[in-house]
Amino acid sequence: MATSRAAVVTSYHQPLEIQQVEIPELNGISMLVRIDASTLCGTDVHRWEGGLGDEALPFVTGHEPCGYIEVMNAPRVDIFNRPLAVGDRIVWSYVSCGHCYYCTVALQPCLCRGRASWGHNRSDQFPYLLGSCAQYMYVPVECQIVRVPDRISSATAAASSCAYRTIMHAYDRLGAIKSHETVLIQGSGPLGIFAAAVAREHGAKKVLLIGAPAGRLETARRMGVDELIDMDVVTEESDRVAWVKDETDGRGADVVIQCATANAVPEGMRMLRDGGRYVSVGVGGRAAMPIGDLPGEMTLYTVRSGEPRHWLQAIDFLDSRWDSYPFEEMISESYDLDGVNDAMEAMASFRVVKAAIYPNGR
Ligand SMILES: [Zn+2]
Ligand SMILES: [Zn+2]
Repeated sequence: MATSRAAVVTSYHQPLEIQQVEIPELNGISMLVRIDASTLCGTDVHRWEGGLGDEALPFVTGHEPCGYIEVMNAPRVDIFNRPLAVGDRIVWSYVSCGHCYYCTVALQPCLCRGRASWGHNRSDQFPYLLGSCAQYMYVPVECQIVRVPDRISSATAAASSCAYRTIMHAYDRLGAIKSHETVLIQGSGPLGIFAAAVAREHGAKKVLLIGAPAGRLETARRMGVDELIDMDVVTEESDRVAWVKDETDGRGADVVIQCATANAVPEGMRMLRDGGRYVSVGVGGRAAMPIGDLPGEMTLYTVRSGEPRHWLQAIDFLDSRWDSYPFEEMISESYDLDGVNDAMEAMASFRVVKAAIYPNGR
């Protein structure tokens, strides 16, 4: 076992190549994980198109892995300081440098300038395997490791490695949801639908959602949404704003969580009550609005990535609520590694909610 099959981006917007990529020598407590499932997200599409600016060709695509520890040369512990063993099924955090202003003074490690993340690193330089659409992946020394309980599928655990942990980070920034508060979610992708379930479990009085298409909205209802509207049906922004006001005694929502794109921010601001809290999660897009149109005394949060505890919170949420919500419905299509180009196309054209790749077979 000297190489691993991996889906490699060799030039932007061109078909990915399935290559044999070198398996690195392990140093210290670094590990090799056998990938069980890798989910794709919009960020992978943007990097494939060369649009994120952090890509270095050639790179192994994918940053949402879940897998089994295959090789571990030195004792290592999980996020709870419990010993890990070969064969454990895990997800693992990104790594902050620990030395920059954001790490040491501001204590905002997600903003670290030397942060290590996956799915955009050169596959022809050590440690080669830092993308999840591969049979094996290298886990650096500094990652925090979260064990995955048996009942969570590997694909859903993989989605917790980016989409779901980002939502947990967003709720961390928001603070407590009070029992009288209405939470509105913009967007019905995996982020938005997962955010609905978390709002429900955090005690919101009412959970509203605006999204499309109809099929996703069916899933959203089963994930804790009380009332929703279909953007394909209610096509005028003014009608959507009026609907939110109707649902909130004319005030607007106490909390709005943007899980679509930045294009949705002005509309979301018009749906927020004076003094409310707005969290912008979805990336991409541009929008402008007169600053005088903002709600009075509102609070705006943006969120980037997550800290190790958010990986844990996402896995813990899935485990403790596994029987209450149909999390698996958000994984809409499965592919072998050779199907990676079909998966990327399906994600790029929004034909699937979330594609799961099984690099070692299903
Ligand atoms: Zn740093
Ligand atoms: Zn992602």
